[in-house]
Amino acid sequence: MLELLNLIGAQLKPAQDGQWLDQIEPATGQVTGRLPRSNAADVEDAYAAAAQAFPSWSATPIERRAACLRNLAALVNQHSETLAQAESQDNGKPIRLAQSVDIPRAEQNLAFFASAIEQFSSEAHIPAGHTHINYTHRKSIGVVGCISPWNLPLYLFTWKIAPALAAGNCVIAKPSEITPVTAWMLSQWVLQAGFPPGVLNIVHGLGPEVGQAIVEHPRIKAISFTGGTVTGAHIARTAGPMFKKMSLELGGKNPAIIFADCDFDKALQTTIRSSFANQGQICLCSSRILIEDSIYDRFRDALVAKVQRMQPGDPLDPATKMGAVVSASHRDKVLGHIQAAHSEGATLLCGGGLADAPNERCANGYFIQPTIFENAGPSCKINQEEVFGPVITLQRFHAESEAIQLANSSDYGLACTIWTQDLGKAHRVAAEVESGIAWVNCWLVRDLRTPFGGVKASGVGREGGWSALQFFTEPQNVCISLSSIEMP
Ligand code: NDP
Repeated sequence: MLELLNLIGAQLKPAQDGQWLDQIEPATGQVTGRLPRSNAADVEDAYAAAAQAFPSWSATPIERRAACLRNLAALVNQHSETLAQAESQDNGKPIRLAQSVDIPRAEQNLAFFASAIEQFSSEAHIPAGHTHINYTHRKSIGVVGCISPWNLPLYLFTWKIAPALAAGNCVIAKPSEITPVTAWMLSQWVLQAGFPPGVLNIVHGLGPEVGQAIVEHPRIKAISFTGGTVTGAHIARTAGPMFKKMSLELGGKNPAIIFADCDFDKALQTTIRSSFANQGQICLCSSRILIEDSIYDRFRDALVAKVQRMQPGDPLDPATKMGAVVSASHRDKVLGHIQAAHSEGATLLCGGGLADAPNERCANGYFIQPTIFENAGPSCKINQEEVFGPVITLQRFHAESEAIQLANSSDYGLACTIWTQDLGKAHRVAAEVESGIAWVNCWLVRDLRTPFGGVKASGVGREGGWSALQFFTEPQNVCISLSSIEMP
């Protein structure tokens, strides 16, 4: 049984009041360990450590901060196989996905922001006549909070802490209580990587307890949050009146727009991946597949034929392509969405319920069949509410304008994919779709320098590259007179 601890200052320790939460493996439903059920007192403890570390860390040369991040990246690389096993076991995701995506990307996040901070620059504005010079001084903010979800645990955790630390802030981070193991493993290497005590603090526990304590702490000056839209709105209501900086990366209901002139096989294969990767539990997954009328039947039949053959397997089996959903309550939530689709008259094409356990070890795991519906109108719940599971709908469109209208008939606006060989059309449609990210003839291709985030109910602000470093710094304009006489 694993026993996880908080990292506060230089110490790994349990919650002050000795409370614990069970750690459950989704593929088996078994308790595999326990983690601290921390509360506001532990956050206060972490704040004290972070506040003490801040003056020195923010004054530490950039090269030294970057070196600490690179050391941590190297430790992730050194332990990558153990981390991938832990991520797969903790989250239910296929081990191959953890090995090929989650852990390499966590390492890359740390290394990327080590380099990014060394290249970061700010602006100077010099008026004609050289009477004054204005320059932007980007200062570290102070103590910041980073709150991350369960779907890509170490990947999204490092995506937040790396730019925050690179920019000279001290961090109080809370991983999702549902998938805390890889953040716990990382916490054991933080001091070894050279970070001084208190620069990175990791506090485990429940969102409404630890997360809430971070968000409402009067001296934590910025909150970087990734999670559900409802939680994001709650955080905004709390932190907004306190004038904290906020970056909110929230839910999605992403359309895949399949035009008749697409590369059919590539669109089909990638749409299967974009719909069902990580059991549909990626904020960027496609969940509304919009297909042009003239190829609708052919695309639907080919899609259903392939998806019907996909069966969830034991996440720890290297051959598995689909694993377990993350928890019993999430399984029930996804099944509730499937039930609602039936109630609204949608036609089930495949899946629609629990999948057989792949082996005896997984007899009590949380496995759902990949599920496809058609004949649900754009305003049906199944086309409006984020399922965040292996469930998609198919809708037919006749014209480019109708595709755009359907794509935009959602409160969300995170990502879309557009499948066409006509570059002009791809460009027009991308410009009209209300989303933070548009992929043309591809999906999930990520360049870490690009701005990442959504519009509408999918969030506020952008992560990645300069956007993240700008978020984690406070710009001050410094104006210096260069003339001996003050101008009027
Ligand atoms: P939640 O919103 O439930 O939780 C996200 C994090 O916030 C968790 O660490 C959670 O803790 C914590 N939290 C919960 N309540 C509070 C609170 N009152 N104050 C502060 N923190 C709190 O999301 P999920 O973990 O269920 O993640 C799935 C969601 O994340 C989906 O909607 C998905 O679309 C979105 N997501 C968005 C991404 C993006 O980049 N836009 C990327 C990935 C996911 P705990 O787990 O203990 O409840």
